[in-house]
Amino acid sequence: MSTQQYDAVIVGSGPNGLSAGIVLAQVGLSVLVLEAKQTIGGGARTEQVTLPGFHHDICSAIHPMSVVSPFLRTLPLADFGLEWAYSPAAIAHPLDDGTAATLELSHDATAARLGEDATAYRDLMKPFASKAGMLFDEILKPILPLPPPRHPFLLAHFGLLGLQSATRLAKRFKTKHARALLAGAAAHSFLPLERIGSASFGLALILAGHATGWPAAKGGSISIINAMARMLEQLGGEIRTHHEVRSLRDVPSSRFVFFDVTPRQLARIAGDALPSGYMKKLRAFRYGPGVCKIDLALDGPIPWKSAECARSATVHVGGTLEEIAAHEHAVFNGRMTEKPFVLVAQQSMFDATRAPEGKHTGWAYCHVPHGWDGDATEWIEQQIERFAPGFRDRILARHTIRASQYEQHNPNMIGGDIGGGANVMKQFLARPFPKLDPYSTPNPRIFLCSSSTPPGGGVHAMCGYWAAKSALKRL
Ligand SMILES: Cc1cc2nc3c(=O)[nH]c(=O)nc-3n(C[C@H](O)[C@H](O)[C@H](O)COP(=O)(O)OP(=O)(O)OC[C@H]3O[C@@H](n4cnc5c(N)ncnc54)[C@H](O)[C@@H]3O)c2cc1C
Repeated sequence: MSTQQYDAVIVGSGPNGLSAGIVLAQVGLSVLVLEAKQTIGGGARTEQVTLPGFHHDICSAIHPMSVVSPFLRTLPLADFGLEWAYSPAAIAHPLDDGTAATLELSHDATAARLGEDATAYRDLMKPFASKAGMLFDEILKPILPLPPPRHPFLLAHFGLLGLQSATRLAKRFKTKHARALLAGAAAHSFLPLERIGSASFGLALILAGHATGWPAAKGGSISIINAMARMLEQLGGEIRTHHEVRSLRDVPSSRFVFFDVTPRQLARIAGDALPSGYMKKLRAFRYGPGVCKIDLALDGPIPWKSAECARSATVHVGGTLEEIAAHEHAVFNGRMTEKPFVLVAQQSMFDATRAPEGKHTGWAYCHVPHGWDGDATEWIEQQIERFAPGFRDRILARHTIRASQYEQHNPNMIGGDIGGGANVMKQFLARPFPKLDPYSTPNPRIFLCSSSTPPGGGVHAMCGYWAAKSALKRL
């Protein structure tokens, strides 16, 4: 008989903590999830932070990576209350002339709106069009350990395109619309757009849009978490909130401990349970730029100049590729600009549960230097006003979180970094650092399962999935 209280304790109830718990509970292991905060969910929480009746996604809002996730796709989360709210277009990207590029569900429909870039766009996307499921199976996993890829040619084709910089890939387009569409998607990487590898983020997000759209969760991102938590509990798992783990003494006895935290936190918590060489590598882990984020209660929809912007839950605001590239370059190098690239979500346009009748929610953030303590609210609002005159008159209330404040909301968002670490090539290919099994540690009890492991940031829950699989190999 085991003398342990649990087979596995998981520290942190973000999407990756919960997915690790579900995988382990599915094979009959006893699981306890410990969460420092009063509520579960990490980067997928929804709260009423402006006015009563306005439900705001404090962190993640739009979830293409959840619907393409090879693990989440297998879970019956609809039976646990999860519903997706889709907008007709995945992304709208307005320009100063009052027009907008849009990412439509099909690559053909998107190409058809791109004028003289129609053929170039179709040629770029077509090889992946009917193979998106296979592609996401390949890229949402660690490069190592083996097994080798099941679709090596598809992966190689994606790799050759994706390893380019976004600015280089955009050279195959002539129109500012096609170039801006790619730039906006690639900027999710938090990398300068002239850096190699930045194209892969843009391509993957665009392909996810063509495969499934870019939905939000009905009722808020917390609905994803609530569905995962209910499923875990039905499998016998326990969740305990308001239980911060400061050292391993705060963890009940268990065979395994999974940490849904970033390397710096793991180093602090694990102390001498990990050897000094490994700790040194954890401490050398590089964090990325931060975000400054606003949540808005609005008196009506955002009055976009281009009607196309009302067809999409996500609007990329920042103008041309050159403008976006200039901002991302500055931020990565520690400087803020007054014309940021702003990611806007207008979930209430496609989900009536988010705001009182006739009212709307607005969600917007821009990238800022790591740990920046400034307030970018004014610049974010100016950029939206640029493409939606009269927008500011519709603001009833606002709530801002600066990069320097994000850690108070979620200790994983160090310096406002929402991606679990910088996506520089070394950490993009292997995170937290090159290692045959990135989830295991030299201590056979301790595993890392957060977005600081492959395949990185986003609510796809694959880091937790692969970490749990790594531990199960030991049983
Ligand atoms: C503003 C913003 C916008 C975003 N937009 C999107 C988006 O639209 N789509 C998307 O897919 N992703 C988005 N993300 C990223 C996404 O939220 C993260 O990639 C994802 O939540 C990472 O999941 P995780 O499980 O690794 O960690 P987290 O979600 O960060 O969860 C970690 C959990 O561990 C807890 N914890 C930490 N330390 C301890 C401790 N010592 N003891 C106990 N508990 C602890 C934390 O409180 C937290 O609940 C966004 C994030 C932010 C902040």
